[in-house]
Amino acid sequence: MRITGIRLQQLRLPLDPPFLAAWDPSPRRTFEATIVRVETDAGLVGVGSGDTMAGFDDYVQGFVGRDPLAIGRHARALETISFHAGRYWPLEAALWDLLGQACGEPLARLLGGFSAGVPAYASWGSLKDPGQRAEDAQALVSEGFRGVKVRIAPGRVDDGVAVVAAVRAVVGDTLEIIVDLNQWWRMPGDVARGFGPVDARRVIERLREFGVLWVEEPLPAVDVAGMRMLREVSGVRVAGGEMAGTFDELRLALERDALDVLQPDVVLALGVSGARTLADLALRRNRWFTPHTWTNGIGLLANLHVCAGVGGGPLIEFPYDPPGWTPARRDFMLAEPVTIGPDGLLRVPEAPGLGVRLDEEAVAFYARAAGDPVAVR
Ligand SMILES: [Mg+2]
Repeated sequence: MRITGIRLQQLRLPLDPPFLAAWDPSPRRTFEATIVRVETDAGLVGVGSGDTMAGFDDYVQGFVGRDPLAIGRHARALETISFHAGRYWPLEAALWDLLGQACGEPLARLLGGFSAGVPAYASWGSLKDPGQRAEDAQALVSEGFRGVKVRIAPGRVDDGVAVVAAVRAVVGDTLEIIVDLNQWWRMPGDVARGFGPVDARRVIERLREFGVLWVEEPLPAVDVAGMRMLREVSGVRVAGGEMAGTFDELRLALERDALDVLQPDVVLALGVSGARTLADLALRRNRWFTPHTWTNGIGLLANLHVCAGVGGGPLIEFPYDPPGWTPARRDFMLAEPVTIGPDGLLRVPEAPGLGVRLDEEAVAFYARAAGDPVAVR
């Protein structure tokens, strides 16, 4: 089998009303997604999505004409490219999708087949008041979710702690509570002051009484020693690494005991290949592996396959914050949005590969809205 072309389509979904994510400097009025299709002379087409793939045109010739299943080679090539250009991991996910299709097996089975699914936690993205969040949390319990992620922003710590208290008061122990401080990395142009180790320690000490499952990204990536200090003095698990720039950034964080929970997103950081290897290292060190999934339904599925395949968990992130962030918005390019079962389990699709079914009409429509598709041959 040979790669005959790699086609990118940039989609843009208008968001009306807009959605204000806690980590964004301003409200999102559009939601962008880039679809990667790897076309082959066998007629199989692998699909991936996640990072923007901006600038990939300069590197496409390094892949066209080659065997798509030589994924070890391609993952290594993408790693070297990422030093100079973008994080083109959606291409690698599309190659794994092709491998699954060629074998007639879901990707999770090729990665170890550890479980058929992972219990989901709802990942809220916006900041709301405690009364609203108490109501929202009760709805999550009735929908089957096993946990919820709350955002706490610097400068609004009292509000964030009040949300955690209100949620715990209404859900008791029926829902795990996760808190994300979103300090490891920044959105482009964000120069606002964040948490230092002293600030983060104060926040975590206030959260401890509410029995949070983990605190996520309390400090910038550079402060590995600070993260280790936080987990050691608080006894609260520290998580991070969703957007790590390199495999070794997370390997070193793991070796230096900075993290209890490793979270590289396979379509934004490390790829499927790197994340699988890191997951093995983490699990063998008695740490957790559960990837970030906050892109779109294709990215969510890619991460689910890795998490379920290697035996990650105990929960997996399900971006969900209605009415602002719904499966319909998140998965607007899919024939059916990805959903959890009534038992709260996010199940691995049974179809070969990633199990992505595109809504080609929606793809064509929203690609037009974003401008002409970028065809790369
Ligand atoms: Mg996060």
